[in-house]
Amino acid sequence: MLVISALKQVANAATNAVHSATGNVTGHNNSGTPSTPIMPGGTPGTPSSKAKEKIMLRAKVVVALYPFRAIEGGDLSLEKGAEYEVLDDSQEHWWKVKDENGSIGYIPSNYVKEKELLGLQKYEWYVGDMSRQRAESLLKQEDKEGCFVVRNSSTKGLYTLSLYTKVPHPHVKHYHIKQNTRGEFYLSEKHCCGSIPDLVNYHRHNSGGLASRLKTSPCDRPVPPTAGLSHDKWEIDPAELHLLEELGSGQFGVVRRGKWRGSIDVAVKMMKEGTMSEDDFIEEAKVMTKLQHQNLVQLYGVCSKDRPIYIVTEYMRHGSLLNYLRRHEASLGANVGLLLDMCIQVCKGMAYLERHNYIHRDLAARNCLVGSENVVKVADFGLARYVLDDQYTSSGGTKFPIKWAPPEVLNYTRFSSKSDVWAYGVLMWEVFTCGKMPYGRLKNTEVVERVQRGIILERPKACFKEVYEVMRKCWAHCPEVRPSFRVLKEQLISVSQGLVND
Ligand code: AMP
Repeated sequence: MLVISALKQVANAATNAVHSATGNVTGHNNSGTPSTPIMPGGTPGTPSSKAKEKIMLRAKVVVALYPFRAIEGGDLSLEKGAEYEVLDDSQEHWWKVKDENGSIGYIPSNYVKEKELLGLQKYEWYVGDMSRQRAESLLKQEDKEGCFVVRNSSTKGLYTLSLYTKVPHPHVKHYHIKQNTRGEFYLSEKHCCGSIPDLVNYHRHNSGGLASRLKTSPCDRPVPPTAGLSHDKWEIDPAELHLLEELGSGQFGVVRRGKWRGSIDVAVKMMKEGTMSEDDFIEEAKVMTKLQHQNLVQLYGVCSKDRPIYIVTEYMRHGSLLNYLRRHEASLGANVGLLLDMCIQVCKGMAYLERHNYIHRDLAARNCLVGSENVVKVADFGLARYVLDDQYTSSGGTKFPIKWAPPEVLNYTRFSSKSDVWAYGVLMWEVFTCGKMPYGRLKNTEVVERVQRGIILERPKACFKEVYEVMRKCWAHCPEVRPSFRVLKEQLISVSQGLVND
Protein backbone atom coordinates (compact mmCIF):
# COMPACT_ATOMS: atom_id res chain seq x y z
CA MET A 1 0.00 0.00 0.00
CA LEU A 2 2.74 2.38 0.99
CA VAL A 3 4.52 1.62 -2.25
CA ILE A 4 1.48 2.40 -4.37
CA SER A 5 0.53 5.61 -2.62
CA ALA A 6 4.11 6.86 -2.67
CA LEU A 7 4.35 6.16 -6.38
CA LYS A 8 1.14 7.98 -7.17
CA GLN A 9 2.18 11.01 -5.23
CA VAL A 10 5.61 11.09 -6.79
CA ALA A 11 3.98 11.05 -10.19
CA ASN A 12 1.86 14.05 -9.27
CA ALA A 13 4.61 16.17 -7.82
CA ALA A 14 5.77 19.20 -9.77
CA THR A 15 8.48 21.41 -8.32
CA ASN A 16 9.25 24.03 -10.94
CA ALA A 17 9.87 27.65 -10.17
CA VAL A 18 7.69 29.99 -12.24
CA HIS A 19 9.28 32.86 -14.11
CA SER A 20 7.98 35.18 -16.79
CA ALA A 21 9.26 34.82 -20.35
CA THR A 22 11.15 38.10 -20.33
CA GLY A 23 13.56 37.17 -17.61
CA ASN A 24 11.78 39.63 -15.34
CA VAL A 25 10.82 37.34 -12.60
CA THR A 26 7.28 37.45 -11.30
CA GLY A 27 7.40 34.96 -8.44
CA HIS A 28 8.03 31.35 -7.47
CA ASN A 29 5.89 28.37 -7.12
CA ASN A 30 7.60 25.50 -5.42
CA SER A 31 4.44 23.64 -4.60
CA GLY A 32 2.90 20.93 -6.73
CA THR A 33 0.84 22.34 -9.57
CA PRO A 34 -0.95 19.50 -11.32
CA SER A 35 -2.15 20.50 -14.78
CA THR A 36 -5.91 20.98 -15.15
CA PRO A 37 -7.56 18.45 -17.45
CA ILE A 38 -9.50 20.03 -20.34
CA MET A 39 -13.17 19.03 -20.06
CA PRO A 40 -15.25 18.38 -23.21
CA GLY A 41 -17.66 21.25 -23.74
CA GLY A 42 -15.73 23.40 -21.31
CA THR A 43 -16.84 25.08 -18.12
CA PRO A 44 -17.74 28.77 -17.74
CA GLY A 45 -14.65 30.95 -17.55
CA THR A 46 -12.37 28.42 -19.30
CA PRO A 47 -10.94 28.98 -22.85
CA SER A 48 -13.22 28.29 -25.85
CA SER A 49 -12.81 24.91 -27.57
CA LYS A 50 -10.84 26.52 -30.44
CA ALA A 51 -8.45 28.17 -28.02
CA LYS A 52 -8.13 24.85 -26.19
CA GLU A 53 -7.34 23.05 -29.42
CA LYS A 54 -4.61 25.61 -30.09
CA ILE A 55 -3.15 25.07 -26.64
CA MET A 56 -3.21 21.32 -27.16
CA LEU A 57 -1.65 21.55 -30.60
CA ARG A 58 1.18 23.82 -29.57
CA ALA A 59 4.24 21.65 -28.97
CA LYS A 60 5.93 21.91 -25.59
CA VAL A 61 9.48 23.10 -26.15
CA VAL A 62 12.14 22.75 -23.47
CA VAL A 63 15.67 24.12 -23.16
CA ALA A 64 18.55 22.06 -21.69
CA LEU A 65 19.91 23.59 -18.47
CA TYR A 66 22.72 21.01 -18.24
CA PRO A 67 24.47 18.75 -20.73
CA PHE A 68 23.49 15.08 -20.58
CA ARG A 69 25.36 12.22 -22.25
CA ALA A 70 23.11 9.40 -23.41
CA ILE A 71 24.81 6.14 -22.49
CA GLU A 72 21.94 3.70 -22.49
CA GLY A 73 20.12 2.87 -25.75
CA GLY A 74 16.87 4.85 -26.12
CA ASP A 75 18.21 7.91 -24.27
CA LEU A 76 19.10 11.16 -26.05
CA SER A 77 22.06 13.45 -25.32
CA LEU A 78 21.34 17.04 -24.31
CA GLU A 79 23.42 20.02 -25.31
CA LYS A 80 23.26 22.87 -22.81
CA GLY A 81 21.12 25.73 -24.15
CA ALA A 82 19.66 23.71 -27.06
CA GLU A 83 15.90 23.33 -27.59
CA TYR A 84 13.92 20.07 -27.69
CA GLU A 85 10.32 19.27 -28.52
CA VAL A 86 8.59 17.17 -25.85
CA LEU A 87 6.79 14.14 -27.28
CA ASP A 88 5.84 12.37 -24.07
CA ASP A 89 5.97 13.79 -20.55
CA SER A 90 3.65 11.25 -18.95
CA GLN A 91 6.43 9.88 -16.71
CA GLU A 92 7.68 12.31 -14.10
CA HIS A 93 11.43 11.88 -14.40
CA TRP A 94 12.21 10.80 -17.97
CA TRP A 95 10.63 12.56 -20.96
CA LYS A 96 10.71 11.52 -24.60
CA VAL A 97 11.90 14.44 -26.73
CA LYS A 98 13.01 15.23 -30.27
CA ASP A 99 16.12 17.30 -31.02
CA GLU A 100 16.60 19.72 -33.97
CA ASN A 101 17.95 16.86 -36.16
CA GLY A 102 14.84 14.79 -35.57
CA SER A 103 16.56 12.29 -33.22
CA ILE A 104 14.21 10.99 -30.56
CA GLY A 105 14.98 9.62 -27.11
CA TYR A 106 14.53 9.90 -23.34
CA ILE A 107 16.10 12.68 -21.28
CA PRO A 108 16.03 13.44 -17.53
CA SER A 109 13.21 15.94 -16.96
CA ASN A 110 15.15 17.79 -14.23
CA TYR A 111 17.80 18.74 -16.84
CA VAL A 112 15.42 20.84 -18.92
CA LYS A 113 13.04 23.71 -18.39
CA GLU A 114 10.04 24.70 -20.47
CA LYS A 115 11.15 27.49 -22.81
CA GLU A 116 8.27 29.75 -21.83
CA LEU A 117 9.07 29.39 -18.12
CA LEU A 118 12.83 29.64 -18.47
CA GLY A 119 13.30 33.05 -16.84
CA LEU A 120 16.72 33.50 -15.29
CA GLN A 121 17.66 29.83 -15.37
CA LYS A 122 19.44 30.10 -18.70
CA TYR A 123 22.09 32.40 -17.22
CA GLU A 124 25.33 30.97 -15.80
CA TRP A 125 25.22 33.46 -12.95
CA TYR A 126 21.77 32.46 -11.65
CA VAL A 127 21.98 29.84 -8.88
CA GLY A 128 18.33 29.70 -7.74
CA ASP A 129 17.71 28.66 -4.14
CA MET A 130 21.24 29.02 -2.78
CA SER A 131 21.55 30.40 0.77
CA ARG A 132 23.77 33.36 1.63
CA GLN A 133 26.16 31.04 3.48
CA ARG A 134 26.54 28.62 0.56
CA ALA A 135 26.95 31.49 -1.91
CA GLU A 136 29.76 32.85 0.26
CA SER A 137 31.56 29.48 0.41
CA LEU A 138 31.20 29.02 -3.34
CA LEU A 139 32.55 32.50 -4.21
CA LYS A 140 35.39 32.26 -1.67
CA GLN A 141 36.39 28.92 -3.12
CA GLU A 142 36.53 30.45 -6.63
CA ASP A 143 38.65 33.30 -5.21
CA LYS A 144 38.29 35.61 -8.25
CA GLU A 145 37.84 39.39 -8.06
CA GLY A 146 34.37 40.36 -9.34
CA CYS A 147 33.03 36.79 -9.26
CA PHE A 148 29.27 36.92 -8.63
CA VAL A 149 25.99 35.00 -8.54
CA VAL A 150 22.34 36.04 -8.45
CA ARG A 151 20.23 33.91 -6.10
CA ASN A 152 16.71 33.78 -4.78
CA SER A 153 16.42 35.86 -1.66
CA SER A 154 14.87 34.09 1.34
CA THR A 155 11.97 36.53 0.86
CA LYS A 156 9.95 34.92 -1.92
CA GLY A 157 10.01 36.72 -5.27
CA LEU A 158 13.10 38.81 -4.44
CA TYR A 159 16.69 38.35 -5.64
CA THR A 160 20.11 38.99 -4.17
CA LEU A 161 23.40 39.60 -5.92
CA SER A 162 26.40 38.10 -4.08
CA LEU A 163 29.75 39.52 -5.16
CA TYR A 164 33.32 38.56 -4.21
CA THR A 165 36.02 41.17 -3.90
CA LYS A 166 39.56 41.11 -2.55
CA VAL A 167 39.55 44.80 -1.71
CA PRO A 168 40.47 45.70 0.99
CA HIS A 169 40.48 41.99 2.02
CA PRO A 170 38.78 38.90 0.53
CA HIS A 171 35.06 39.01 1.35
CA VAL A 172 31.58 38.64 -0.15
CA LYS A 173 29.07 41.50 -0.39
CA HIS A 174 25.34 40.85 -0.78
CA TYR A 175 23.04 43.34 -2.53
CA HIS A 176 19.26 43.08 -2.71
CA ILE A 177 17.99 43.67 -6.23
CA LYS A 178 15.24 46.22 -5.78
CA GLN A 179 12.37 47.32 -8.03
CA ASN A 180 11.06 50.86 -8.39
CA THR A 181 7.42 51.86 -8.93
CA ARG A 182 7.89 51.57 -12.72
CA GLY A 183 8.89 47.92 -12.25
CA GLU A 184 12.54 48.60 -13.14
CA PHE A 185 15.34 46.73 -11.35
CA TYR A 186 18.24 48.45 -9.60
CA LEU A 187 21.09 48.00 -7.16
CA SER A 188 21.73 51.69 -6.85
CA GLU A 189 18.77 53.95 -7.62
CA LYS A 190 20.76 55.91 -10.19
CA HIS A 191 21.01 52.93 -12.56
CA CYS A 192 17.68 51.23 -13.28
CA CYS A 193 17.13 48.55 -15.94
CA GLY A 194 14.10 46.84 -17.47
CA SER A 195 15.19 43.34 -16.46
CA ILE A 196 17.66 41.57 -14.17
CA PRO A 197 19.86 40.37 -17.11
CA ASP A 198 20.07 44.00 -18.35
CA LEU A 199 21.04 45.10 -14.85
CA VAL A 200 23.79 42.44 -14.70
CA ASN A 201 25.07 43.57 -18.11
CA TYR A 202 25.10 47.19 -17.01
CA HIS A 203 27.19 46.33 -13.93
CA ARG A 204 29.57 44.23 -16.02
CA HIS A 205 30.77 47.54 -17.49
CA ASN A 206 30.16 49.91 -14.58
CA SER A 207 30.65 49.14 -10.92
CA GLY A 208 27.98 51.83 -10.30
CA GLY A 209 28.43 51.79 -6.53
CA LEU A 210 29.23 48.05 -6.19
CA ALA A 211 32.44 46.83 -4.58
CA SER A 212 33.64 45.72 -8.02
CA ARG A 213 32.44 45.37 -11.62
CA LEU A 214 30.68 42.05 -12.25
CA LYS A 215 33.35 40.02 -14.02
CA THR A 216 32.75 36.31 -13.92
CA SER A 217 30.58 33.63 -12.33
CA PRO A 218 31.53 30.21 -10.92
CA CYS A 219 32.02 27.58 -13.60
CA ASP A 220 31.98 23.78 -13.53
CA ARG A 221 29.10 23.73 -11.10
CA PRO A 222 27.88 20.22 -10.31
CA VAL A 223 25.04 18.83 -12.42
CA PRO A 224 22.14 17.30 -10.48
CA PRO A 225 21.70 13.52 -10.28
CA THR A 226 19.10 11.84 -12.47
CA ALA A 227 16.29 9.64 -11.10
CA GLY A 228 17.92 6.33 -12.05
CA LEU A 229 20.81 6.13 -14.52
CA SER A 230 18.51 5.93 -17.55
CA HIS A 231 14.77 5.80 -18.27
CA ASP A 232 13.07 2.81 -16.65
CA LYS A 233 16.38 1.55 -15.33
CA TRP A 234 16.90 0.58 -11.73
CA GLU A 235 18.66 -2.79 -12.19
CA ILE A 236 22.34 -2.04 -12.77
CA ASP A 237 24.77 -4.48 -14.37
CA PRO A 238 27.74 -4.85 -11.95
CA ALA A 239 30.06 -5.28 -14.96
CA GLU A 240 29.33 -1.62 -15.78
CA LEU A 241 30.56 -0.49 -12.36
CA HIS A 242 34.22 0.24 -11.86
CA LEU A 243 34.83 0.05 -8.11
CA LEU A 244 37.33 2.45 -6.53
CA GLU A 245 38.41 3.31 -2.97
CA GLU A 246 36.49 2.48 0.19
CA LEU A 247 34.45 5.42 1.53
CA GLY A 248 33.45 3.92 4.84
CA SER A 249 31.44 1.14 6.35
CA GLY A 250 28.21 1.04 8.28
CA GLN A 251 25.33 -1.09 9.44
CA PHE A 252 24.99 -2.82 6.08
CA GLY A 253 28.61 -3.27 5.06
CA VAL A 254 31.30 -1.53 3.07
CA VAL A 255 30.66 1.53 0.86
CA ARG A 256 32.98 2.18 -2.11
CA ARG A 257 33.25 4.95 -4.64
CA GLY A 258 32.64 3.82 -8.19
CA LYS A 259 32.19 4.95 -11.79
CA TRP A 260 29.24 3.79 -13.83
CA ARG A 261 30.21 3.11 -17.44
CA GLY A 262 33.41 5.03 -16.84
CA SER A 263 31.71 8.40 -16.50
CA ILE A 264 29.24 8.84 -13.65
CA ASP A 265 30.46 9.03 -10.04
CA VAL A 266 28.50 6.75 -7.75
CA ALA A 267 28.69 5.29 -4.25
CA VAL A 268 28.21 1.54 -4.03
CA LYS A 269 26.92 0.03 -0.80
CA MET A 270 27.78 -3.65 -0.70
CA MET A 271 25.15 -5.22 1.50
CA LYS A 272 26.45 -7.77 3.99
CA GLU A 273 24.62 -10.98 3.27
CA GLY A 274 21.84 -11.79 5.69
CA THR A 275 21.52 -8.21 6.97
CA MET A 276 18.33 -7.30 5.10
CA SER A 277 15.21 -8.87 3.61
CA GLU A 278 16.47 -8.56 0.10
CA ASP A 279 13.41 -9.33 -2.05
CA ASP A 280 11.24 -6.78 -0.24
CA PHE A 281 13.97 -4.19 -0.52
CA ILE A 282 14.48 -4.78 -4.25
CA GLU A 283 10.75 -4.14 -4.83
CA GLU A 284 10.95 -0.96 -2.76
CA ALA A 285 14.07 0.22 -4.59
CA LYS A 286 11.96 0.75 -7.72
CA VAL A 287 9.94 3.32 -5.79
CA MET A 288 12.95 4.85 -4.10
CA THR A 289 14.68 5.64 -7.41
CA LYS A 290 11.66 7.82 -8.18
CA LEU A 291 12.05 9.96 -5.08
CA GLN A 292 13.97 13.00 -6.25
CA HIS A 293 14.85 16.17 -4.34
CA GLN A 294 17.93 18.36 -4.09
CA ASN A 295 18.27 17.41 -0.40
CA LEU A 296 17.86 13.65 -0.75
CA VAL A 297 20.71 11.35 -1.76
CA GLN A 298 19.56 9.97 -5.11
CA LEU A 299 19.18 6.21 -5.35
CA TYR A 300 20.33 5.25 -8.85
CA GLY A 301 19.45 1.57 -8.64
CA VAL A 302 20.55 -1.82 -7.41
CA CYS A 303 22.58 -4.79 -8.59
CA SER A 304 20.30 -7.54 -7.35
CA LYS A 305 21.09 -10.50 -9.62
CA ASP A 306 24.22 -11.57 -7.71
CA ARG A 307 25.14 -11.63 -4.05
CA PRO A 308 26.05 -9.45 -2.26
CA ILE A 309 23.43 -6.96 -3.41
CA TYR A 310 24.83 -3.53 -4.31
CA ILE A 311 22.88 -0.33 -3.65
CA VAL A 312 24.09 2.34 -6.05
CA THR A 313 23.57 5.98 -5.07
CA GLU A 314 24.74 9.47 -5.86
CA TYR A 315 28.32 10.08 -4.63
CA MET A 316 28.71 12.76 -1.94
CA ARG A 317 32.30 13.90 -1.78
CA HIS A 318 32.49 15.03 1.87
CA GLY A 319 30.93 11.91 3.39
CA SER A 320 28.70 11.74 6.45
CA LEU A 321 27.40 14.94 8.04
CA LEU A 322 28.42 13.69 11.49
CA ASN A 323 32.07 13.29 10.52
CA TYR A 324 32.00 16.54 8.54
CA LEU A 325 30.77 18.45 11.62
CA ARG A 326 33.44 16.87 13.80
CA ARG A 327 36.23 17.45 11.26
CA HIS A 328 35.35 21.11 10.70
CA GLU A 329 34.29 22.02 14.24
CA ALA A 330 36.73 24.95 14.44
CA SER A 331 35.42 26.75 11.34
CA LEU A 332 31.78 25.63 11.50
CA GLY A 333 31.31 26.36 15.20
CA ALA A 334 31.92 30.05 14.49
CA ASN A 335 29.45 30.14 11.60
CA VAL A 336 25.99 29.76 13.08
CA GLY A 337 24.44 30.79 9.75
CA LEU A 338 26.03 27.83 8.01
CA LEU A 339 24.89 25.43 10.78
CA LEU A 340 21.34 26.73 10.49
CA ASP A 341 21.53 26.42 6.71
CA MET A 342 22.51 22.74 7.09
CA CYS A 343 19.48 22.16 9.31
CA ILE A 344 17.21 23.91 6.80
CA GLN A 345 18.53 21.74 3.97
CA VAL A 346 17.84 18.54 5.90
CA CYS A 347 14.38 19.90 6.77
CA LYS A 348 13.64 20.52 3.07
CA GLY A 349 14.57 16.94 2.18
CA MET A 350 12.42 15.63 5.04
CA ALA A 351 9.48 17.87 4.04
CA TYR A 352 9.64 16.21 0.61
CA LEU A 353 9.57 12.72 2.19
CA GLU A 354 6.69 13.81 4.43
CA ARG A 355 4.73 15.10 1.38
CA HIS A 356 5.15 11.66 -0.17
CA ASN A 357 4.10 9.84 3.02
CA TYR A 358 7.55 8.36 3.29
CA ILE A 359 8.95 7.74 6.78
CA HIS A 360 12.72 7.73 7.28
CA ARG A 361 12.86 5.77 10.59
CA ASP A 362 16.56 6.44 11.22
CA LEU A 363 17.17 10.15 10.73
CA ALA A 364 20.42 11.28 12.38
CA ALA A 365 23.54 13.24 11.37
CA ARG A 366 25.32 9.94 10.60
CA ASN A 367 22.67 9.24 7.94
CA CYS A 368 23.04 12.55 6.11
CA LEU A 369 25.82 13.26 3.62
CA VAL A 370 27.65 16.40 2.54
CA GLY A 371 28.46 17.15 -1.12
CA SER A 372 30.21 19.98 -2.93
CA GLU A 373 29.11 23.57 -2.28
CA ASN A 374 28.09 22.58 1.29
CA VAL A 375 25.02 20.77 0.07
CA VAL A 376 23.55 18.46 2.71
CA LYS A 377 21.33 15.52 1.74
CA VAL A 378 19.36 12.95 3.65
CA ALA A 379 20.41 9.33 2.97
CA ASP A 380 19.21 5.83 3.82
CA PHE A 381 15.53 6.78 4.03
CA GLY A 382 13.24 3.80 4.62
CA LEU A 383 16.11 1.29 4.72
CA ALA A 384 15.52 0.47 8.39
CA ARG A 385 12.37 -1.48 7.40
CA TYR A 386 14.44 -4.10 5.62
CA VAL A 387 17.05 -4.73 8.30
CA LEU A 388 16.91 -8.27 9.69
CA ASP A 389 19.07 -7.64 12.78
CA ASP A 390 16.86 -7.66 15.92
CA GLN A 391 19.44 -5.61 17.77
CA TYR A 392 18.75 -2.77 15.31
CA THR A 393 15.01 -3.14 14.76
CA SER A 394 13.74 -3.74 18.29
CA SER A 395 13.70 -0.77 20.66
CA GLY A 396 15.38 -2.97 23.29
CA GLY A 397 18.25 -3.84 20.91
CA THR A 398 21.80 -2.61 21.39
CA LYS A 399 21.95 -1.06 17.90
CA PHE A 400 18.52 0.63 18.04
CA PRO A 401 18.87 4.43 17.69
CA ILE A 402 17.37 5.06 21.15
CA LYS A 403 18.81 8.56 21.45
CA TRP A 404 16.88 9.68 18.35
CA ALA A 405 13.60 7.96 19.32
CA PRO A 406 10.45 9.62 20.74
CA PRO A 407 8.32 8.08 23.53
CA GLU A 408 5.80 6.42 21.15
CA VAL A 409 8.64 4.60 19.35
CA LEU A 410 10.25 3.52 22.63
CA ASN A 411 6.90 2.33 23.99
CA TYR A 412 5.04 0.96 20.98
CA THR A 413 7.53 1.08 18.03
CA ARG A 414 5.07 3.52 16.43
CA PHE A 415 6.90 5.25 13.56
CA SER A 416 5.44 8.22 11.66
CA SER A 417 6.61 11.44 10.05
CA LYS A 418 6.23 12.89 13.55
CA SER A 419 8.71 10.37 14.98
CA ASP A 420 11.05 11.58 12.21
CA VAL A 421 10.41 15.13 13.50
CA TRP A 422 11.62 14.12 16.98
CA ALA A 423 14.76 12.62 15.45
CA TYR A 424 15.18 15.81 13.41
CA GLY A 425 15.25 17.85 16.65
CA VAL A 426 18.09 15.61 17.89
CA LEU A 427 19.85 16.04 14.52
CA MET A 428 19.61 19.84 14.93
CA TRP A 429 21.21 19.40 18.33
CA GLU A 430 24.02 17.33 16.74
CA VAL A 431 24.57 20.08 14.17
CA PHE A 432 24.73 22.88 16.73
CA THR A 433 27.17 20.92 18.93
CA CYS A 434 29.28 20.09 15.85
CA GLY A 435 28.72 16.37 16.24
CA LYS A 436 28.56 15.68 19.98
CA MET A 437 26.86 12.48 21.15
CA PRO A 438 23.35 13.32 22.41
CA TYR A 439 22.98 12.64 26.16
CA GLY A 440 26.75 12.18 26.38
CA ARG A 441 27.72 8.89 27.96
CA LEU A 442 24.31 8.12 29.45
CA LYS A 443 23.30 4.49 28.98
CA ASN A 444 20.31 3.73 26.76
CA THR A 445 18.17 2.77 29.77
CA GLU A 446 18.94 6.12 31.41
CA VAL A 447 18.06 7.97 28.20
CA VAL A 448 14.73 6.12 27.96
CA GLU A 449 13.93 7.03 31.53
CA ARG A 450 14.72 10.71 30.88
CA VAL A 451 12.69 10.87 27.70
CA GLN A 452 9.70 9.26 29.45
CA ARG A 453 9.97 11.88 32.19
CA GLY A 454 10.06 14.68 29.64
CA ILE A 455 13.69 15.71 30.25
CA ILE A 456 15.11 17.02 27.00
CA LEU A 457 18.56 17.86 25.64
CA GLU A 458 20.08 21.13 26.81
CA ARG A 459 20.61 24.13 24.57
CA PRO A 460 23.98 23.87 22.79
CA LYS A 461 26.24 26.88 23.40
CA ALA A 462 26.33 27.91 19.72
CA CYS A 463 22.55 27.77 19.44
CA PHE A 464 20.39 30.89 19.55
CA LYS A 465 17.32 30.86 21.80
CA GLU A 466 15.07 31.05 18.73
CA VAL A 467 16.66 27.95 17.19
CA TYR A 468 16.44 26.03 20.48
CA GLU A 469 12.73 26.90 20.64
CA VAL A 470 12.28 25.08 17.32
CA MET A 471 14.20 22.03 18.65
CA ARG A 472 11.98 21.95 21.74
CA LYS A 473 8.86 21.86 19.57
CA CYS A 474 10.24 18.71 17.88
CA TRP A 475 10.44 17.07 21.30
CA ALA A 476 6.79 17.52 22.28
CA HIS A 477 5.76 14.30 24.10
CA CYS A 478 2.63 13.89 22.02
CA PRO A 479 3.39 13.34 18.26
CA GLU A 480 0.33 15.36 17.19
CA VAL A 481 1.68 18.44 18.96
CA ARG A 482 5.01 18.36 17.09
CA PRO A 483 5.13 20.59 13.99
CA SER A 484 5.25 18.98 10.55
CA PHE A 485 8.43 19.32 8.46
CA ARG A 486 6.54 21.72 6.20
CA VAL A 487 5.87 24.03 9.16
CA LEU A 488 9.37 23.51 10.59
CA LYS A 489 10.90 24.57 7.30
CA GLU A 490 8.94 27.83 7.31
CA GLN A 491 9.78 28.50 10.96
CA LEU A 492 13.50 27.88 10.43
CA ILE A 493 13.62 30.06 7.32
CA SER A 494 11.98 32.89 9.22
CA VAL A 495 14.33 32.41 12.21
CA SER A 496 17.23 32.50 9.77
CA GLN A 497 15.96 35.74 8.19
CA GLY A 498 15.77 37.30 11.65
CA LEU A 499 19.17 36.10 12.88
CA VAL A 500 21.38 36.10 9.85
CA ASN A 501 21.24 38.74 7.14
CA ASP A 502 20.05 37.53 3.77
P1 AMP B 1 26.43 3.87 5.72
O1 AMP B 1 26.49 2.41 5.52
O2 AMP B 1 25.37 4.52 4.92
O3 AMP B 1 26.39 4.25 7.18
O4 AMP B 1 27.80 4.48 5.12
C1 AMP B 1 29.05 4.29 5.77
C2 AMP B 1 29.98 5.45 5.40
O5 AMP B 1 30.25 5.42 4.00
C3 AMP B 1 29.37 6.83 5.65
O6 AMP B 1 29.60 7.25 6.96
C4 AMP B 1 30.09 7.69 4.63
O7 AMP B 1 31.33 8.10 5.13
C5 AMP B 1 30.30 6.74 3.47
N1 AMP B 1 29.24 6.89 2.46
C6 AMP B 1 28.04 6.25 2.42
N2 AMP B 1 27.33 6.63 1.36
C7 AMP B 1 28.08 7.55 0.69
C8 AMP B 1 27.87 8.35 -0.50
N3 AMP B 1 26.72 8.27 -1.19
N4 AMP B 1 28.84 9.19 -0.87
C9 AMP B 1 29.98 9.29 -0.15
N5 AMP B 1 30.23 8.58 0.96
C10 AMP B 1 29.30 7.72 1.40
